[in-house]
Amino acid sequence: MTLMIGKNSVVAINYTLTNDAGEVMDSSEGGAPLTYLHGAHNLIAGLEKELEGKAAGAKFKATIAPEDGYGESDPAMIQTLPREMFRGVDNIEVGMGFTAQGPQGQQHIVVTAVSGDEVTVDGNHPMAGKTLHFAVEVISVREATAEEIDHGHVHDGSHHH
Ligand code: ZN
Repeated sequence: MTLMIGKNSVVAINYTLTNDAGEVMDSSEGGAPLTYLHGAHNLIAGLEKELEGKAAGAKFKATIAPEDGYGESDPAMIQTLPREMFRGVDNIEVGMGFTAQGPQGQQHIVVTAVSGDEVTVDGNHPMAGKTLHFAVEVISVREATAEEIDHGHVHDGSHHH
């Protein structure tokens, strides 16, 4: 019997994520496949939708719009701050990442521009507002255990408790 991916499947995939320019943004290559619980919002919605109904051995490509991926970039998450707020950092450069204390708790921000005494930072997810291009291979599909369904995540590999 061939198991097809549906709600409460535990699925292992190899994947490569590229942006519009064809640059690799993320990949399971060189590491273990990504294992996730289907239907528990462990993956972005657009990718779960593409995986639905597939079986082990399936290979496919999917293009996912921002609204089904990491969402649109939120202008409210982009701020220009005085350089003095980065006291202790000698050379502030574009691409540097910081953890900041925001209204919703800890937030990861990335420097996107430095101009004189002003530093522009972006707290959006790095892939927010981007179209995602996935190449996926389904490695294995099994049914989740009752405990995994209860917890909403997989208990393979690194996650045991
Ligand atoms: Zn658990």
